[in-house]
Amino acid sequence: MKKGIAGILLQKEFTHEDITVLLRSDEEDAKLLYAQAAIIKEKYVGNTVYLRGLIEYSNVCGKNCLYCGSRRENRNIKRYTLSEDEALEAVISAWRLGFGSVTIQGGEIESDNHADKIESLIRVIREKTNNEVGVTLSLGEQERDVYRRWYNAGAHRYLLRLEATGRELYNKIHPLDKENHYEKRHACLRAIKETGFQTGTGLLIGLPHQTLSDLADDLIFLRDFDIDMCVMSPFIEHTDTSEGTGGISGFFLKERLFLTLKMTAILRIIMKDINIISSSAMQAVDTEGREKAILAGANIIMPNITPLKYREGYKLYNHKQESKEIDPANVSGLNLTLLPGTEIGLKKWGDATHYKRRKNLVL
Ligand code: SAH
Ligand code: SF4
Repeated sequence: MKKGIAGILLQKEFTHEDITVLLRSDEEDAKLLYAQAAIIKEKYVGNTVYLRGLIEYSNVCGKNCLYCGSRRENRNIKRYTLSEDEALEAVISAWRLGFGSVTIQGGEIESDNHADKIESLIRVIREKTNNEVGVTLSLGEQERDVYRRWYNAGAHRYLLRLEATGRELYNKIHPLDKENHYEKRHACLRAIKETGFQTGTGLLIGLPHQTLSDLADDLIFLRDFDIDMCVMSPFIEHTDTSEGTGGISGFFLKERLFLTLKMTAILRIIMKDINIISSSAMQAVDTEGREKAILAGANIIMPNITPLKYREGYKLYNHKQESKEIDPANVSGLNLTLLPGTEIGLKKWGDATHYKRRKNLVL
């Protein structure tokens, strides 16, 4: 088996079967995978980890995704939406600490009022930070026109997680109601790319019913779609969701972490110069989870900069990290002793090299 993995890693192209073999690596073989991902990361994107200050803007959501604590039918959380001033204050504090970029994430709301509020927030962030802070959005499915307005207001990256790229699994983790359409989500991802955003998506790893073959398909989808960035998250149950029963996937949390690390490394190997986000969910599963993902090929983290009083309301999954202020002496919050040679990209946007190449901005 070991020889098999080493041989596959020498290839330039990878089939579905190759990827499945890589995903099956045991701890020993996985070290080869991480080592190869580390070489490719250093060569194509360098060893700087860039920061996106995460603002959990609102937990109000029109959707009912089965895995998520913000789902419409969860009556056990207090709903909130930040005011423009609160969100701006969080951004300004992060900017002063050296953050070059923020992500505004929240429930999915399709209304004119919401579109106006976000447009105004983007403009005010760009203006008050002298255009120094880059803005990523993660606000779900919207009309093409809304994406265009937000892009024109100054947001330049959009993260729309597909969670599972195959129709069958997607429909198992989303209720088949009128708000939820596999086709619409894919059409939105295409619209985001066509609008001009650096386009990101994300996967949930270790979902109930998910197979290694599904995960290999996911990686092939990302490659064929030519994605600019991706967030890899282990799936974590939430007590208030239909999927919160635990263990039904057959993947224990430790295995999900291991699989997420392997997915991160394989994605780095097959897509080389994209941005890969080490998710906060990694840290919820393992206190060194984010560092492990960086060693496996990730180059972005999203420290939480949401005002502390709102964090209790944004529990998307169990074990979500305790609320903490950013430590000015170590704004990334990473344990850098575990990451020799890694630098933190303060005051930088940290755009995906892949996007620049895709847009012919670099040769
Ligand atoms: N509402 C938007 C923005 C992101 S929602 C959208 O759905 O596109 C919050 C994100 O948290 C989800 O995309 C998902 O990736 C993550 N999340 C939700 N429930 C989770 C769970 N049980 N385990 C791990 N991540 C989860
Ligand atoms: Fe809403 Fe996003 Fe959670 Fe789905 S994943 S319920 S759209 S916040």
